[in-house]
Amino acid sequence: MTIVDTPERRQLRELTRAFVTKEVLPYLDDWERAGEVPRSLHETAAKIGLLGIGFPESVGGSGGDLLDSILVTEEVIRSGGSSGLIAALFTHGIALPHMVAACDDGLIGRYVRPTLAGTMIGALAITEPDGGSDVAGIRTCARRDGDHYVVNGSKTYITSGVRSDFVTTAVCTNFPGSGSLSLLVIEKGTPGFTVGRRLEKLGWHCSDTAELSFVDVRVPVANRIGPEDTGFLAIMQQFATERLSLATQAYATAQRCVELATRWCRDRSTFGRPLASRQLVRHRLAEMHTRAEAARVYVHDVAERVAAGEPVVTEVAMAKNVAVAACDFVVDAALQLHGGFGYLRDAEVERHYRDARILGIGGGTTEIMNEIIAKGMGL
Ligand SMILES: Cc1cc2nc3c(=O)[nH]c(=O)nc-3n(C[C@H](O)[C@H](O)[C@H](O)COP(=O)(O)OP(=O)(O)OC[C@H]3O[C@@H](n4cnc5c(N)ncnc54)[C@H](O)[C@@H]3O)c2cc1C
Repeated sequence: MTIVDTPERRQLRELTRAFVTKEVLPYLDDWERAGEVPRSLHETAAKIGLLGIGFPESVGGSGGDLLDSILVTEEVIRSGGSSGLIAALFTHGIALPHMVAACDDGLIGRYVRPTLAGTMIGALAITEPDGGSDVAGIRTCARRDGDHYVVNGSKTYITSGVRSDFVTTAVCTNFPGSGSLSLLVIEKGTPGFTVGRRLEKLGWHCSDTAELSFVDVRVPVANRIGPEDTGFLAIMQQFATERLSLATQAYATAQRCVELATRWCRDRSTFGRPLASRQLVRHRLAEMHTRAEAARVYVHDVAERVAAGEPVVTEVAMAKNVAVAACDFVVDAALQLHGGFGYLRDAEVERHYRDARILGIGGGTTEIMNEIIAKGMGL
């Protein structure tokens, strides 16, 4: 099964492609060097309705569902964008859904609407210096004090953490490490909340990543998402969307690299003949294409089932691992086929090769996905 191609979805693809061609491609190298994308890009994407895809109009979104969000992610990368750009521009895809699911009008008005309008930037902070895989072991704690929580702790590797205006933060509302988690929206500028250094990375250079510190930060109880101690469940429920987005970034990066490598192998001649005329090269390209295509079809199938409300936690984990494995194979092969040029900053495959490495780490590592799959097998 694959995502049904409707006239609306074809239009959405065209809109996304035009946006990337006009608003992204001329500047992406500059943003990679600057370490972030400009705020104006969020506003531009919001104006044409791209930022709000996958969010209902009732909260300021543009409508559409998970499958439409997947198409946008796919098209951004296939048009020459990157997974780093997706991480930076669409961070709200992980920062907002918990607020929307909780149907909290106050939070929706203060954070969801302005973010989807491109005037605010949000981030999601779960990972801590002591560990990210063990979500239940979170140690950042929030102690209730009247109509506020007092938050102490730290977070790390937070996407858009440098630029964000607010952070959807996982905190322990019982003793540290107890697994009794809640989500609090913490605003930049709140006394005691500081953004540490901008973290330098292997890839995703246009996406800023930060360490966050909380020392006696007073957060209004009204900024809690949903009832106290329901944060773990809320995080797990939204992980499906994040993991499918990462899986999409993986197969779309693979597809893009197949295209780039195929073009290169047609144009590049060695020993008097185009590379693409050699059986070894043709078979390598065929294998790359097959893996990318198989991953795409499987991710689409699982996404359809998630959108239909099926409980497919195991399949989501498998989809992420399948797509990441395809991507790892393809980016490596694509760079190799480019020879020395593939190793240069001027080559688009070089960026995809570096960017791809995070996809098997973020949103739950390959090993953690295997744990979920093993549990699903009854092991
Ligand atoms: C660029 C970037 C952006 C990120 N953005 C965000 C963000 O926006 N918000 C956020 O909250 N986090 C973010 N993260 C953090 C990311 O989600 C974590 O790095 C990831 O979940 C892994 O956690 P960890 O780094 O603490 O590794 P650890 O949990 O310390 O794991 C280390 C290694 O041990 C393996 N491992 C762990 N437990 C087991 C086990 N039981 N069995 C077998 N192997 C195991 C892991 O798979 C991994 O290989 C980001 C990270 C990066 C690098």
